[in-house]
Amino acid sequence: MNLFEESKKYIPGGVNSPVRAFGSVGGDPVFIKRAHGSKVYDINDKEYLDYICSWGPLILGHADEDVVNAVVNAAKNGTSFGAPTELELKLAKKVVENVPSMDMVRMVNSGTEAVMSAIRVARAYTEKDKIIKFEGCYHGHSDGLLVKAGSAALTFGQPSSPGVPDDYAKNTLVAEYNNLDSVKKLVEENKGEVAAVIVEPVAGNMGVVLPKDGFLKDLEEFCKNEGILLIFDEVITGFRLAPGGAGEYFDVDADLTTMGKIIGGGLPVGAYGGKKEIMEMVSPTGPVTQAGTLSGNPLAMAAGLATLDKVCAPGFHKNLAEKSEKLWQGMRDNCRRLNVNYAFNTIESMGCLFFKEGEVTSFKEATSSDTDKFAKFFHGMLKQGITIAPSQFEATFVSDKHSDEDIEYTIKAHYNALKDL
Ligand SMILES: *Cc1c(COP(=O)(O)O)cnc(C)c1O
Repeated sequence: MNLFEESKKYIPGGVNSPVRAFGSVGGDPVFIKRAHGSKVYDINDKEYLDYICSWGPLILGHADEDVVNAVVNAAKNGTSFGAPTELELKLAKKVVENVPSMDMVRMVNSGTEAVMSAIRVARAYTEKDKIIKFEGCYHGHSDGLLVKAGSAALTFGQPSSPGVPDDYAKNTLVAEYNNLDSVKKLVEENKGEVAAVIVEPVAGNMGVVLPKDGFLKDLEEFCKNEGILLIFDEVITGFRLAPGGAGEYFDVDADLTTMGKIIGGGLPVGAYGGKKEIMEMVSPTGPVTQAGTLSGNPLAMAAGLATLDKVCAPGFHKNLAEKSEKLWQGMRDNCRRLNVNYAFNTIESMGCLFFKEGEVTSFKEATSSDTDKFAKFFHGMLKQGITIAPSQFEATFVSDKHSDEDIEYTIKAHYNALKDL
């Protein structure tokens, strides 16, 4: 039986999240049966070395023993209560202790939900409706964030998906990443109406695009002066760049921070938090409605806690960065040896090779990549038993389970795949 063909009869496109369908690289997606450490295995037990890492959550690799034990033990005691638990307290404490800008945190079930809720709180707190996001930053699929820059070059947002009313999109203004002037201009044009600026401190949904020196600091200062809340969407960067995420890494004090991915250790968790005064706006302390039947689910809390216990331990990020740097350096050497000058953006354990010469610092530059070449490169890697995300505009993630041997093999495969283009 062809699982993909069969799945397409019952699930739109055969997948529960579109990019999994291999649409932009062609061919049929690999159906996974099981995974362990740095490896995933398809339905025929073919082994792949995996750098998708479930799109970010699996910084400890697949089926980490401590995480699995924590989940199994939690499950034995009941899978959901709809009542407060000590596990929720422990995870909340862990988050607040590690993330300097967060005094309080609320758990939800996905990054989408975290961002949607944080924006609601920001609007309630400032009593303003408009928000500014950056072109190419992804903040989940809630209506008000499925917005792209309008035809009037970077002013009013337009829905980027059918089904999103123009009326929702009109409160979302779109600025250019790494361009503070584009933010200033929007604020000037919408004086006194902007509640918040939301940014991925390292953009991880248009490939990997790093903030230019000073961009985040200047954005922080500008927002403070204007009385606009700064929201760091750390769904990817949270716990990946440092125990305190991008806020700690770049020394920026965001008013609100959203999390997802790593915080759930592979189970569905999102979280948003920040300054006490702002978070106390949330019900039942304050008037802002936000609730969830499975929020703070004990299995998910146990997975998150077991993950953060390891990730926030001293030396974890230093080790992971050294491991990652070996990989990035090997890939850089390959490019040099093959005389290709593609942009290759890396930071800590996330990286992206853009099939575009020169640098990539913006959405415009990212989207001028040669995606056909990327597709060939992707299949070149896949043929050699390596899974990277099936899209040019995603990050490659290194986990602490990738061994020296894995990395050496990957560097060789990367050379071969590039050479064959
Ligand atoms: C993945 C992601 C989201 C959405 O999280 P989901 O759990 O997929 O809803 C939001 N923001 C960023 C930066 C992300 O990478």
